[in-house]
Amino acid sequence: GKGIPLNMLSSDPDRKIKQVIAIMSGKGGVGKSLVTGLLAVSLRRQGQRVGILDGDITGPSIARMFGTRGQPTKSASGGIEPLRSKGGIKVMSMNMFLEKESDPVVWRGPMISSAIKQFYSDVDWGQLDYLLVDLPPGTSDAPMTVMQALPLDGVVIVSSPQMLATMVVMKCVNMVQQLKGSIVGVVENMSYFETPDHERYEIFGPSNATELVSVTGAPLLGQMPIDSALTSLCDAGRVEEYYSDAYEALAANFVSTLKI
Ligand code: ADP
Repeated sequence: GKGIPLNMLSSDPDRKIKQVIAIMSGKGGVGKSLVTGLLAVSLRRQGQRVGILDGDITGPSIARMFGTRGQPTKSASGGIEPLRSKGGIKVMSMNMFLEKESDPVVWRGPMISSAIKQFYSDVDWGQLDYLLVDLPPGTSDAPMTVMQALPLDGVVIVSSPQMLATMVVMKCVNMVQQLKGSIVGVVENMSYFETPDHERYEIFGPSNATELVSVTGAPLLGQMPIDSALTSLCDAGRVEEYYSDAYEALAANFVSTLKI
């Protein structure tokens, strides 16, 4: 078949992908892709069938953190077969179509959104409980068109404790509201750094978690510290091996928010 029509509603019992959750941030570099990967891992550890659509076309890092290598192949039904992580997460990323991983993708908004639509409709995702979509950063055309093109069930907003974070998140809230979407939760990333003797340093400033919650009206799913063990695992393509107290707490909240 030609994949899933874009206008299928969540209530459709024949829908092959049960829920589509987008991960969004008002600006780049806050760890949106990393949080997308971690949320996917938390669902997979619950035995859910999970896919990640890497919509951050201009800076794709999902394939890298899962260590998925090689080119996607043609599936039995003529679609594109996604790559699979060691833990069984299906991954589709723009990286997979580049000659070299470092090749830049210099595309305009409309091209980005048509590539993402194809990732959704032409990829043979099979039956999925959750498809997580790593949106392009910011609140410009690119994330907007992606959100319009896909039948989203919810949005998770990732932020970091920085001045103006609240204003940036407010823009996200406005965009989600404009598209009549719903924010299911917020994640504060890079909240602090903890020394081996459990001393905490708020490197990027004090937490804005309380403000994030009041601006979005959505629950705080977790606060992730800056953790060099996490960076190393991501660089080695082994994000699925990550465990930490902060991550366990985030995972538990995310899973219970989705009522698994
Ligand atoms: P974004 O998608 O928001 O642009 P990324 O997820 O690509 O950001 O993260 C940017 C960089 O910061 C990556 O190299 C990632 O591994 C690192 N990083 C993100 N969050 C953390 C964290 N909590 N601890 C350590 N490194 C992190």
